[in-house]
Amino acid sequence: PRELLLHRRLLEIKFFKERHGHRVVPSAPVRPRGDPSLLFVNAGMNQFKPIFLGTVDPRSEMARYRRVVNSQKCVRAGGKHNDLDDVGRDVYHHTFFEMLGNWSFGDYFKEEACAMAWQLLTGSYGIPRDRLYVSYFGGDRTLGLEADEETREIWLNIGVQPNRILPFGMKDNFWEMGETGPCGPCTEIHYDHVGGRDVAHLVNSDSSDVVEIWNLVFMQYSREADGSLRALHQHSVDTGMGLERLVAVLQGKRSNYDTDLFTPLFSAIQQVCPEYRGQTGVADKSKVDMAYRVIADHIRALTVCIADGVYPGMSGAQLVLRHILRRAVRFSTEVLKSTPGSLSKLVPTVVHILIMDIINDNEAQFLSSLKQGRRVIDRTLQNMNGSTVFPGSVAWSLHCHLGFPLDLLRLMVEEKGVAMDTEALDSCVDLDVKVLPELQGLGITYTNDLPKYQYSLGQDGRYVFLPCHATIQALI
Ligand code: ATP
Ligand code: MG
Ligand code: MG
Ligand code: MG
Repeated sequence: PRELLLHRRLLEIKFFKERHGHRVVPSAPVRPRGDPSLLFVNAGMNQFKPIFLGTVDPRSEMARYRRVVNSQKCVRAGGKHNDLDDVGRDVYHHTFFEMLGNWSFGDYFKEEACAMAWQLLTGSYGIPRDRLYVSYFGGDRTLGLEADEETREIWLNIGVQPNRILPFGMKDNFWEMGETGPCGPCTEIHYDHVGGRDVAHLVNSDSSDVVEIWNLVFMQYSREADGSLRALHQHSVDTGMGLERLVAVLQGKRSNYDTDLFTPLFSAIQQVCPEYRGQTGVADKSKVDMAYRVIADHIRALTVCIADGVYPGMSGAQLVLRHILRRAVRFSTEVLKSTPGSLSKLVPTVVHILIMDIINDNEAQFLSSLKQGRRVIDRTLQNMNGSTVFPGSVAWSLHCHLGFPLDLLRLMVEEKGVAMDTEALDSCVDLDVKVLPELQGLGITYTNDLPKYQYSLGQDGRYVFLPCHATIQALI
Protein backbone atom coordinates (compact mmCIF):
# COMPACT_ATOMS: atom_id res chain seq x y z
CA PRO A 1 0.00 0.00 0.00
CA ARG A 2 2.88 2.43 0.64
CA GLU A 3 4.01 2.00 -2.92
CA LEU A 4 0.49 2.65 -4.05
CA LEU A 5 0.38 5.84 -2.04
CA LEU A 6 3.65 7.11 -3.39
CA HIS A 7 2.56 6.17 -6.84
CA ARG A 8 -0.65 8.14 -6.43
CA ARG A 9 1.07 11.24 -5.13
CA LEU A 10 3.44 11.03 -8.08
CA LEU A 11 0.48 10.56 -10.37
CA GLU A 12 -0.73 14.07 -9.56
CA ILE A 13 2.72 15.53 -10.22
CA LYS A 14 3.07 13.46 -13.40
CA PHE A 15 -0.38 14.43 -14.61
CA PHE A 16 0.38 18.14 -14.47
CA LYS A 17 3.98 17.80 -15.57
CA GLU A 18 3.67 15.41 -18.48
CA ARG A 19 0.15 15.93 -19.69
CA HIS A 20 -0.12 19.66 -19.08
CA GLY A 21 3.40 21.10 -19.25
CA HIS A 22 3.82 22.12 -15.60
CA ARG A 23 7.19 22.57 -14.00
CA VAL A 24 7.83 20.63 -10.78
CA VAL A 25 8.94 22.85 -7.90
CA PRO A 26 10.08 21.49 -4.50
CA SER A 27 8.24 22.20 -1.27
CA ALA A 28 9.41 25.28 0.63
CA PRO A 29 10.35 24.83 4.34
CA VAL A 30 7.42 25.14 6.79
CA ARG A 31 8.74 28.42 8.20
CA PRO A 32 8.21 31.15 5.59
CA ARG A 33 11.25 33.22 4.70
CA GLY A 34 10.90 36.96 4.60
CA ASP A 35 7.15 37.08 5.19
CA PRO A 36 6.27 38.50 8.61
CA SER A 37 2.54 38.11 7.84
CA LEU A 38 2.78 34.34 8.40
CA LEU A 39 3.99 32.07 11.22
CA PHE A 40 3.96 28.91 9.12
CA VAL A 41 3.43 28.06 5.49
CA ASN A 42 -0.32 27.51 5.35
CA ALA A 43 -0.75 26.77 1.64
CA GLY A 44 1.19 25.78 -1.44
CA MET A 45 0.85 29.28 -2.85
CA ASN A 46 2.85 31.03 -0.10
CA GLN A 47 6.21 30.72 -1.83
CA PHE A 48 4.69 32.24 -4.98
CA LYS A 49 3.20 35.28 -3.27
CA PRO A 50 5.58 37.71 -5.04
CA ILE A 51 4.44 36.40 -8.41
CA PHE A 52 0.78 37.03 -7.62
CA LEU A 53 1.53 40.49 -6.28
CA GLY A 54 3.81 41.37 -9.19
CA THR A 55 6.77 42.03 -6.88
CA VAL A 56 8.93 39.12 -8.05
CA ASP A 57 12.51 39.97 -8.99
CA PRO A 58 12.47 39.90 -12.82
CA ARG A 59 15.98 38.37 -12.86
CA SER A 60 14.94 35.46 -10.67
CA GLU A 61 14.03 32.00 -11.85
CA MET A 62 10.60 32.45 -10.33
CA ALA A 63 9.83 35.32 -12.69
CA ARG A 64 9.72 32.77 -15.49
CA TYR A 65 7.19 30.45 -13.87
CA ARG A 66 4.01 30.04 -15.91
CA ARG A 67 2.73 26.56 -15.03
CA VAL A 68 3.95 24.95 -11.84
CA VAL A 69 3.05 21.88 -9.76
CA ASN A 70 4.19 20.81 -6.28
CA SER A 71 3.49 19.10 -2.98
CA GLN A 72 3.91 21.56 -0.11
CA LYS A 73 4.43 20.92 3.60
CA CYS A 74 1.84 23.03 5.44
CA VAL A 75 1.13 23.83 9.10
CA ARG A 76 -2.19 25.32 10.15
CA ALA A 77 -1.80 26.19 13.79
CA GLY A 78 -1.98 29.90 14.49
CA GLY A 79 -2.78 32.84 12.25
CA LYS A 80 -5.74 33.10 9.89
CA HIS A 81 -5.86 29.39 9.08
CA ASN A 82 -5.72 27.81 12.53
CA ASP A 83 -7.04 24.26 12.76
CA LEU A 84 -5.50 23.29 16.09
CA ASP A 85 -8.86 23.09 17.87
CA ASP A 86 -10.32 20.72 15.28
CA VAL A 87 -7.40 18.30 15.34
CA GLY A 88 -8.40 15.04 16.98
CA ARG A 89 -12.05 16.09 17.25
CA ASP A 90 -12.59 15.37 13.57
CA VAL A 91 -10.82 12.97 11.24
CA TYR A 92 -9.68 15.30 8.46
CA HIS A 93 -8.03 18.42 9.95
CA HIS A 94 -4.35 18.20 10.81
CA THR A 95 -1.87 20.71 12.13
CA PHE A 96 0.71 19.40 9.63
CA PHE A 97 -0.43 18.16 6.22
CA GLU A 98 0.79 18.09 2.65
CA MET A 99 -0.94 20.14 -0.01
CA LEU A 100 -0.78 19.09 -3.64
CA GLY A 101 -1.15 22.06 -5.96
CA ASN A 102 -0.95 23.34 -9.48
CA TRP A 103 -0.58 26.95 -10.59
CA SER A 104 -1.03 29.17 -13.58
CA PHE A 105 0.63 32.56 -13.45
CA GLY A 106 -1.05 34.61 -16.15
CA ASP A 107 -1.39 31.44 -18.25
CA TYR A 108 -4.58 29.29 -18.19
CA PHE A 109 -7.58 30.36 -16.17
CA LYS A 110 -10.90 29.01 -14.91
CA GLU A 111 -11.95 26.72 -17.71
CA GLU A 112 -8.72 24.77 -18.05
CA ALA A 113 -8.17 24.63 -14.28
CA CYS A 114 -11.59 23.04 -13.70
CA ALA A 115 -11.22 20.66 -16.64
CA MET A 116 -7.79 19.44 -15.47
CA ALA A 117 -8.96 18.90 -11.88
CA TRP A 118 -12.00 16.97 -13.06
CA GLN A 119 -9.91 14.91 -15.47
CA LEU A 120 -7.42 13.97 -12.73
CA LEU A 121 -10.06 13.00 -10.17
CA THR A 122 -12.57 11.18 -12.36
CA GLY A 123 -10.15 9.99 -15.06
CA SER A 124 -6.72 9.22 -13.61
CA TYR A 125 -7.94 8.38 -10.08
CA GLY A 126 -11.25 6.91 -11.25
CA ILE A 127 -13.36 8.60 -8.56
CA PRO A 128 -17.07 8.12 -9.46
CA ARG A 129 -18.72 11.37 -10.54
CA ASP A 130 -21.74 10.71 -8.37
CA ARG A 131 -19.55 11.04 -5.27
CA LEU A 132 -18.49 14.59 -6.14
CA TYR A 133 -20.03 18.01 -5.49
CA VAL A 134 -18.63 21.38 -6.51
CA SER A 135 -19.09 24.79 -4.95
CA TYR A 136 -18.55 28.25 -6.42
CA PHE A 137 -18.53 31.83 -5.16
CA GLY A 138 -22.10 33.12 -4.80
CA GLY A 139 -21.07 36.78 -4.50
CA ASP A 140 -21.30 39.29 -1.66
CA ARG A 141 -23.63 42.24 -2.01
CA THR A 142 -22.25 44.31 0.83
CA LEU A 143 -18.76 44.09 -0.63
CA GLY A 144 -20.00 44.63 -4.18
CA LEU A 145 -18.61 41.26 -5.34
CA GLU A 146 -20.61 39.47 -8.01
CA ALA A 147 -21.43 35.78 -8.09
CA ASP A 148 -19.04 33.71 -10.20
CA GLU A 149 -21.64 32.47 -12.71
CA GLU A 150 -18.87 31.82 -15.22
CA THR A 151 -17.54 28.99 -13.07
CA ARG A 152 -21.03 27.57 -12.61
CA GLU A 153 -21.35 27.44 -16.41
CA ILE A 154 -17.96 25.76 -16.72
CA TRP A 155 -19.00 22.96 -14.37
CA LEU A 156 -22.29 22.55 -16.24
CA ASN A 157 -20.37 22.23 -19.52
CA ILE A 158 -18.06 19.65 -17.95
CA GLY A 159 -21.20 17.66 -17.22
CA VAL A 160 -21.71 18.13 -13.47
CA GLN A 161 -25.41 17.84 -12.53
CA PRO A 162 -26.96 21.26 -11.68
CA ASN A 163 -28.02 20.07 -8.19
CA ARG A 164 -24.36 19.29 -7.43
CA ILE A 165 -23.10 22.82 -8.20
CA LEU A 166 -23.60 24.92 -5.08
CA PRO A 167 -23.01 28.63 -4.33
CA PHE A 168 -21.38 29.72 -1.07
CA GLY A 169 -20.31 33.07 0.36
CA MET A 170 -17.08 34.72 1.50
CA LYS A 171 -16.29 32.25 4.29
CA ASP A 172 -16.09 29.15 2.10
CA ASN A 173 -15.58 30.37 -1.45
CA PHE A 174 -13.42 33.45 -1.27
CA TRP A 175 -9.93 32.33 -0.35
CA GLU A 176 -7.48 34.62 1.46
CA MET A 177 -3.93 33.79 2.43
CA GLY A 178 -3.92 35.90 5.60
CA GLU A 179 -5.06 39.26 6.92
CA THR A 180 -3.35 40.74 3.88
CA GLY A 181 -2.11 39.27 0.61
CA PRO A 182 -3.39 37.55 -2.53
CA CYS A 183 -7.03 36.42 -2.59
CA GLY A 184 -9.91 35.68 -4.87
CA PRO A 185 -13.08 33.69 -5.48
CA CYS A 186 -12.67 29.93 -5.49
CA THR A 187 -14.41 26.79 -6.56
CA GLU A 188 -14.08 23.63 -4.52
CA ILE A 189 -14.57 19.93 -5.03
CA HIS A 190 -16.14 17.89 -2.23
CA TYR A 191 -16.32 14.11 -1.82
CA ASP A 192 -19.25 12.12 -0.46
CA HIS A 193 -17.80 9.20 1.50
CA VAL A 194 -21.14 7.39 1.68
CA GLY A 195 -22.90 7.71 -1.67
CA GLY A 196 -26.33 6.65 -2.85
CA ARG A 197 -28.26 9.74 -1.74
CA ASP A 198 -28.35 13.50 -2.28
CA VAL A 199 -26.17 15.16 0.35
CA ALA A 200 -25.86 18.66 -1.11
CA HIS A 201 -26.92 20.01 2.31
CA LEU A 202 -23.83 18.44 3.93
CA VAL A 203 -21.32 20.29 1.73
CA ASN A 204 -19.34 22.73 3.94
CA SER A 205 -21.08 21.40 7.04
CA ASP A 206 -19.21 19.73 9.91
CA SER A 207 -20.26 16.28 8.74
CA SER A 208 -17.41 13.89 8.04
CA ASP A 209 -19.61 12.22 5.40
CA VAL A 210 -18.84 14.96 2.89
CA VAL A 211 -15.33 16.37 2.92
CA GLU A 212 -13.75 19.18 0.93
CA ILE A 213 -10.83 17.78 -1.02
CA TRP A 214 -9.66 20.36 -3.55
CA ASN A 215 -9.79 24.13 -3.75
CA LEU A 216 -9.24 26.00 -7.02
CA VAL A 217 -8.64 29.68 -6.32
CA PHE A 218 -8.87 32.31 -9.03
CA MET A 219 -6.41 34.87 -7.77
CA GLN A 220 -7.62 38.29 -8.81
CA TYR A 221 -7.10 40.61 -5.82
CA SER A 222 -4.74 41.61 -3.07
CA ARG A 223 -6.19 42.34 0.37
CA GLU A 224 -4.49 45.55 1.51
CA ALA A 225 -3.63 46.61 5.06
CA ASP A 226 -6.68 48.96 5.14
CA GLY A 227 -8.96 46.00 4.28
CA SER A 228 -9.65 47.07 0.71
CA LEU A 229 -9.31 44.80 -2.34
CA ARG A 230 -6.84 45.83 -5.04
CA ALA A 231 -7.13 44.19 -8.46
CA LEU A 232 -3.98 42.25 -9.43
CA HIS A 233 -2.06 42.88 -12.65
CA GLN A 234 -2.81 39.42 -14.02
CA HIS A 235 -5.24 36.56 -13.45
CA SER A 236 -3.77 33.43 -11.93
CA VAL A 237 -4.87 30.02 -10.74
CA ASP A 238 -3.83 28.58 -7.37
CA THR A 239 -5.07 25.15 -6.35
CA GLY A 240 -4.65 23.08 -3.21
CA MET A 241 -5.65 19.51 -2.46
CA GLY A 242 -4.97 17.85 0.88
CA LEU A 243 -2.86 14.72 0.31
CA GLU A 244 -4.21 12.99 3.45
CA ARG A 245 -7.83 13.59 2.39
CA LEU A 246 -7.14 12.43 -1.15
CA VAL A 247 -5.46 9.27 0.13
CA ALA A 248 -8.47 8.58 2.38
CA VAL A 249 -10.73 8.80 -0.68
CA LEU A 250 -8.46 6.61 -2.81
CA GLN A 251 -8.02 4.01 -0.07
CA GLY A 252 -11.76 3.96 0.66
CA LYS A 253 -11.36 5.16 4.28
CA ARG A 254 -13.72 7.48 6.12
CA SER A 255 -10.93 8.83 8.31
CA ASN A 256 -7.51 10.15 7.29
CA TYR A 257 -6.16 8.27 10.31
CA ASP A 258 -7.19 4.94 8.75
CA THR A 259 -4.91 5.47 5.75
CA ASP A 260 -1.37 4.17 5.57
CA LEU A 261 -0.12 7.70 6.25
CA PHE A 262 -1.26 7.17 9.86
CA THR A 263 -1.88 3.49 10.65
CA PRO A 264 1.82 2.72 11.31
CA LEU A 265 1.81 5.62 13.79
CA PHE A 266 -1.24 4.25 15.56
CA SER A 267 0.54 0.91 15.96
CA ALA A 268 3.60 2.71 17.30
CA ILE A 269 1.48 4.63 19.82
CA GLN A 270 -0.04 1.36 20.97
CA GLN A 271 3.48 -0.01 21.49
CA VAL A 272 4.67 2.90 23.62
CA CYS A 273 1.44 3.20 25.62
CA PRO A 274 0.97 -0.48 26.58
CA GLU A 275 -1.65 0.38 29.15
CA TYR A 276 -4.21 0.36 26.40
CA ARG A 277 -2.87 -2.45 24.30
CA GLY A 278 -5.72 -4.83 23.63
CA GLN A 279 -7.63 -3.46 26.58
CA THR A 280 -11.39 -3.38 26.27
CA GLY A 281 -13.95 -1.59 28.37
CA VAL A 282 -11.85 1.54 28.75
CA ALA A 283 -13.92 4.08 30.66
CA ASP A 284 -14.12 6.63 27.87
CA LYS A 285 -13.17 5.11 24.54
CA SER A 286 -13.83 8.28 22.57
CA LYS A 287 -11.32 10.11 24.74
CA VAL A 288 -8.72 7.46 23.98
CA ASP A 289 -9.47 7.59 20.25
CA MET A 290 -9.07 11.33 20.29
CA ALA A 291 -5.77 11.04 22.15
CA TYR A 292 -4.47 8.68 19.47
CA ARG A 293 -5.40 11.15 16.73
CA VAL A 294 -3.95 14.16 18.54
CA ILE A 295 -0.68 12.40 19.31
CA ALA A 296 -0.32 11.01 15.79
CA ASP A 297 -1.00 14.43 14.31
CA HIS A 298 1.21 16.37 16.71
CA ILE A 299 4.23 14.10 16.46
CA ARG A 300 4.18 14.56 12.67
CA ALA A 301 4.02 18.34 13.07
CA LEU A 302 6.79 18.33 15.70
CA THR A 303 9.08 16.12 13.63
CA VAL A 304 8.64 18.08 10.42
CA CYS A 305 8.98 21.49 12.09
CA ILE A 306 12.09 20.55 14.05
CA ALA A 307 13.63 19.04 10.89
CA ASP A 308 12.92 22.37 9.17
CA GLY A 309 14.66 24.32 11.95
CA VAL A 310 11.67 25.46 14.04
CA TYR A 311 12.23 24.49 17.70
CA PRO A 312 9.77 24.78 20.58
CA GLY A 313 10.33 28.17 22.17
CA MET A 314 8.85 31.31 23.63
CA SER A 315 7.57 33.39 20.74
CA GLY A 316 6.01 33.27 17.29
CA ALA A 317 6.17 29.94 15.46
CA GLN A 318 8.33 28.50 18.23
CA LEU A 319 5.67 29.21 20.80
CA VAL A 320 3.07 27.49 18.63
CA LEU A 321 5.32 24.45 18.44
CA ARG A 322 5.80 24.45 22.21
CA HIS A 323 2.03 24.55 22.55
CA ILE A 324 1.67 21.56 20.18
CA LEU A 325 4.31 19.63 22.11
CA ARG A 326 2.62 20.30 25.44
CA ARG A 327 -0.74 19.17 24.08
CA ALA A 328 0.87 15.94 22.90
CA VAL A 329 2.49 15.40 26.31
CA ARG A 330 -0.81 16.04 28.10
CA PHE A 331 -2.73 13.53 25.95
CA SER A 332 -0.08 10.84 26.11
CA THR A 333 0.56 10.99 29.86
CA GLU A 334 -2.91 11.78 31.23
CA VAL A 335 -5.09 9.90 28.75
CA LEU A 336 -2.85 7.10 27.50
CA LYS A 337 -0.81 6.84 30.72
CA SER A 338 2.48 6.74 28.88
CA THR A 339 5.83 7.02 30.60
CA PRO A 340 8.32 9.88 30.00
CA GLY A 341 10.21 9.52 26.74
CA SER A 342 7.34 7.83 24.91
CA LEU A 343 6.64 10.64 22.48
CA SER A 344 10.08 10.76 20.94
CA LYS A 345 9.93 7.00 20.36
CA LEU A 346 7.32 7.73 17.69
CA VAL A 347 9.72 9.81 15.60
CA PRO A 348 11.28 6.89 13.66
CA THR A 349 7.80 5.95 12.44
CA VAL A 350 7.18 9.49 11.18
CA VAL A 351 10.54 9.39 9.46
CA HIS A 352 9.62 6.05 7.96
CA ILE A 353 6.36 7.40 6.56
CA LEU A 354 7.55 10.78 5.34
CA ILE A 355 11.21 10.44 4.50
CA MET A 356 12.38 6.88 3.92
CA ASP A 357 10.27 6.45 0.81
CA ILE A 358 11.84 9.50 -0.76
CA ILE A 359 15.29 8.06 -0.15
CA ASN A 360 14.29 4.60 -1.41
CA ASP A 361 12.73 6.08 -4.48
CA ASN A 362 15.80 8.14 -5.30
CA GLU A 363 18.04 5.18 -4.59
CA ALA A 364 16.06 3.07 -7.04
CA GLN A 365 16.39 5.81 -9.65
CA PHE A 366 20.16 6.01 -9.26
CA LEU A 367 20.88 2.29 -8.95
CA SER A 368 20.35 1.62 -12.64
CA SER A 369 22.41 4.69 -13.60
CA LEU A 370 25.13 3.54 -11.25
CA LYS A 371 25.27 0.15 -12.95
CA GLN A 372 25.40 1.71 -16.40
CA GLY A 373 28.04 4.23 -15.31
CA ARG A 374 30.15 1.52 -13.73
CA ARG A 375 30.18 -0.31 -17.07
CA VAL A 376 31.28 2.84 -18.92
CA ILE A 377 34.03 3.52 -16.36
CA ASP A 378 35.35 -0.04 -16.51
CA ARG A 379 35.33 -0.09 -20.29
CA THR A 380 37.12 3.27 -20.45
CA LEU A 381 39.76 2.03 -17.99
CA GLN A 382 40.35 -1.06 -20.11
CA ASN A 383 40.88 1.02 -23.24
CA MET A 384 43.26 3.59 -21.81
CA ASN A 385 46.33 2.01 -23.38
CA GLY A 386 48.66 2.65 -20.49
CA SER A 387 47.51 6.23 -19.82
CA THR A 388 47.06 7.06 -16.11
CA VAL A 389 44.55 9.89 -16.45
CA PHE A 390 40.84 9.31 -16.91
CA PRO A 391 39.40 11.33 -19.83
CA GLY A 392 37.51 14.42 -18.62
CA SER A 393 35.01 14.23 -21.45
CA VAL A 394 33.83 10.77 -20.36
CA ALA A 395 33.42 12.00 -16.80
CA TRP A 396 31.49 15.01 -18.03
CA SER A 397 29.26 12.85 -20.14
CA LEU A 398 28.49 10.55 -17.15
CA HIS A 399 27.67 13.65 -15.16
CA CYS A 400 25.34 15.06 -17.81
CA HIS A 401 23.63 11.87 -18.90
CA LEU A 402 23.46 9.76 -15.78
CA GLY A 403 23.51 12.41 -13.06
CA PHE A 404 26.81 11.30 -11.48
CA PRO A 405 28.18 13.86 -9.02
CA LEU A 406 31.65 14.88 -10.26
CA ASP A 407 33.37 14.33 -6.91
CA LEU A 408 31.93 10.82 -6.75
CA LEU A 409 33.31 10.07 -10.22
CA ARG A 410 36.73 11.29 -9.18
CA LEU A 411 36.63 8.97 -6.19
CA MET A 412 35.51 6.01 -8.29
CA VAL A 413 38.39 6.33 -10.75
CA GLU A 414 40.93 7.07 -8.04
CA GLU A 415 39.94 3.83 -6.35
CA LYS A 416 41.16 2.12 -9.52
CA GLY A 417 44.52 3.85 -9.20
CA VAL A 418 43.82 6.35 -11.99
CA ALA A 419 43.73 10.15 -11.74
CA MET A 420 41.00 12.29 -13.23
CA ASP A 421 42.01 14.60 -16.05
CA THR A 422 40.85 17.65 -14.12
CA GLU A 423 42.06 20.11 -16.70
CA ALA A 424 39.96 18.56 -19.44
CA LEU A 425 37.02 18.26 -17.06
CA ASP A 426 37.31 21.90 -15.98
CA SER A 427 37.30 23.02 -19.57
CA CYS A 428 34.01 21.15 -20.10
CA VAL A 429 32.54 22.87 -17.03
CA ASP A 430 33.96 26.26 -18.09
CA LEU A 431 32.44 25.94 -21.48
CA ASP A 432 29.02 25.46 -19.94
CA VAL A 433 29.42 28.44 -17.68
CA LYS A 434 30.29 30.54 -20.73
CA VAL A 435 27.42 29.09 -22.68
CA LEU A 436 24.86 29.78 -19.98
CA PRO A 437 24.26 33.53 -20.52
CA GLU A 438 24.09 33.03 -24.25
CA LEU A 439 21.44 30.35 -23.84
CA GLN A 440 19.51 32.65 -21.56
CA GLY A 441 19.64 35.19 -24.36
CA LEU A 442 17.80 32.64 -26.47
CA GLY A 443 15.10 32.44 -23.84
CA ILE A 444 16.26 29.10 -22.51
CA THR A 445 16.55 28.49 -18.80
CA TYR A 446 17.50 25.52 -16.69
CA THR A 447 15.44 23.44 -14.36
CA ASN A 448 17.07 22.27 -11.19
CA ASP A 449 14.99 19.13 -10.72
CA LEU A 450 16.55 17.39 -13.69
CA PRO A 451 20.17 16.41 -14.33
CA LYS A 452 22.14 19.49 -15.16
CA TYR A 453 21.75 20.69 -18.72
CA GLN A 454 19.90 17.65 -19.90
CA TYR A 455 16.65 19.45 -20.44
CA SER A 456 15.79 23.08 -20.38
CA LEU A 457 12.53 24.91 -20.22
CA GLY A 458 11.79 27.24 -23.10
CA GLN A 459 9.78 30.43 -22.68
CA ASP A 460 6.77 28.72 -24.22
CA GLY A 461 6.75 26.35 -21.25
CA ARG A 462 7.95 23.37 -23.28
CA TYR A 463 11.00 21.32 -22.47
CA VAL A 464 13.87 21.54 -24.89
CA PHE A 465 16.05 18.46 -24.92
CA LEU A 466 19.76 19.18 -24.76
CA PRO A 467 21.40 15.75 -25.07
CA CYS A 468 24.97 16.94 -24.73
CA HIS A 469 27.50 19.62 -25.18
CA ALA A 470 27.41 19.39 -28.93
CA THR A 471 23.75 20.31 -28.95
CA ILE A 472 24.38 23.31 -26.75
CA GLN A 473 27.00 24.48 -29.21
CA ALA A 474 24.76 23.71 -32.16
CA LEU A 475 22.04 25.81 -30.59
CA ILE A 476 24.33 28.81 -30.48
P1 ATP B 1 -11.78 23.09 5.52
O1 ATP B 1 -12.98 23.85 5.07
O2 ATP B 1 -11.97 21.60 5.51
O3 ATP B 1 -11.23 23.59 6.81
P2 ATP B 1 -10.21 24.85 3.98
O4 ATP B 1 -11.31 25.41 3.14
O5 ATP B 1 -9.82 25.62 5.16
O6 ATP B 1 -10.62 23.34 4.44
P3 ATP B 1 -8.26 25.40 1.94
O7 ATP B 1 -7.67 26.62 2.55
O8 ATP B 1 -9.23 25.60 0.85
O9 ATP B 1 -8.93 24.51 3.11
O10 ATP B 1 -7.05 24.41 1.55
C1 ATP B 1 -7.03 23.60 0.40
C2 ATP B 1 -7.13 22.12 0.74
O11 ATP B 1 -6.20 21.73 1.72
C3 ATP B 1 -8.46 21.70 1.30
O12 ATP B 1 -9.40 21.49 0.27
C4 ATP B 1 -8.11 20.42 2.03
O13 ATP B 1 -8.08 19.31 1.15
C5 ATP B 1 -6.72 20.68 2.52
N1 ATP B 1 -6.71 21.10 3.93
C6 ATP B 1 -7.00 22.33 4.41
N2 ATP B 1 -6.83 22.39 5.74
C7 ATP B 1 -6.41 21.15 6.11
C8 ATP B 1 -6.03 20.59 7.35
N3 ATP B 1 -6.05 21.29 8.46
N4 ATP B 1 -5.64 19.30 7.37
C9 ATP B 1 -5.61 18.56 6.24
N5 ATP B 1 -5.95 19.03 5.04
C10 ATP B 1 -6.34 20.33 4.96
MG1 MG C 1 -10.15 25.31 7.13
MG1 MG D 1 -13.40 24.99 3.34
MG1 MG E 1 -11.30 25.52 1.09
